[in-house]
Amino acid sequence: MNILILGSGQLARMMALAGYPLGLHVAAVDVNARNVVDPLTKLVSDKSLIQALVEADAISVEFEHIPQDLLEQVNATGKLKPSIESIMAGADRVKEKALLSGLNIANCPYKIVTDINQLDEAVVQLGEKLIIKASRDGYDGYGQWRLSSVTQLAELKLQLSELDLQKVPLVVEKMLCFERELSLVGVRSANGEIAYYPLAENLHHQGQLHVSVAPAPHVNEALNQQAQDVFNKLAHALGYVGVLAVEFFQMGDQLLVNEIAPRVHNSGHWSMQGADTCQFENHLRAISGLPLGATTVLKPTAMINIIGCDDFSKDILSIAGSHLHLYGKTVRAKRKMGHLNVSADSYAELGKTMQALAQYLPAEHFPMLKDEAARLA
Ligand code: ATP
Ligand code: MG
Ligand code: MG
Repeated sequence: MNILILGSGQLARMMALAGYPLGLHVAAVDVNARNVVDPLTKLVSDKSLIQALVEADAISVEFEHIPQDLLEQVNATGKLKPSIESIMAGADRVKEKALLSGLNIANCPYKIVTDINQLDEAVVQLGEKLIIKASRDGYDGYGQWRLSSVTQLAELKLQLSELDLQKVPLVVEKMLCFERELSLVGVRSANGEIAYYPLAENLHHQGQLHVSVAPAPHVNEALNQQAQDVFNKLAHALGYVGVLAVEFFQMGDQLLVNEIAPRVHNSGHWSMQGADTCQFENHLRAISGLPLGATTVLKPTAMINIIGCDDFSKDILSIAGSHLHLYGKTVRAKRKMGHLNVSADSYAELGKTMQALAQYLPAEHFPMLKDEAARLA
């Protein structure tokens, strides 16, 4: 079977690796150049985009920010999974908020701003601590601004005055003091079968994911059920097929949705070592019409993103339970270069193993690692 993925980064790469043993051939589309590339070698194929669309048995995305005309062209093939509505809800925070509110799913208090002066009303409505998000094209914390005091408002308005808010509105959110961030990655097949990975606990730094631990410690049945109910509502409403990730903020015993990602997700990378079937394989199974694989956890696992550096000894692999996944990219600040997965028999052991890993890694690039390791150990 031929699978075509829109986007040619690390997520397409890891889907290609997972597809190989199943006899699924994964090709990728560079959505800027609009050509077909091999997701492993990045070599441009002599196949045209049209030809690849015709030959594909299923088409999916590794990224929600796909140019609209391309997304519509692909959708016209009838092979796109998940649905175009799912992808657009993930790509546009205004649509995403409407979806969540329409389904009565608890999310962060917000105001949509289409004129810069409405920021004053946002402060009145939501308070002076705000996180301001461009409604389109943001990821890893890009396209976000923070207001921590009303005294900064005039300057921020000046800074944002260049934006065309009629075209791309802002979604202004109350800055929440949550206890922690959790995410649910799950998968739905075309016949409605659903499998969930356990909630993962996610640690962010400057808007970017650094560490995930799965299963998240201290999750009771009620919290788990809340997360799965949200997943079910979204998956049913969207006629979803494939892997869907839902990011949550935990406030007391309530979960508020931060955002959704209509694709395989960084907070699911732990499943490559920590679960019976990884998220990449399960996504391919779902979109190919194959039975889903078990999401059973093998061992508590931590995923540590390697961000903005590649300079550490490969001797790190001498640590039992550690696995390295590099994406073959050149280093740039804030760029995700790869990740480490590490599993252990208990959380305490996992913490100790993470402490051992930290010895090999430049501390300035891994600001969350030591504290999280100490907390678990
Ligand atoms: P991603 O790479 O996950 O797609 P993104 O750029 O779309 O990221 P968000 O997930 O909206 O951005 O926000 C990034 C991070 O910023 C969150 O994981 C959280 O740590 C913080 N954040 C976002 N919204 C809020 C909020 N309303 N209150 C407090 N912190 C927030
Ligand atoms: Mg996002
Ligand atoms: Mg996010």
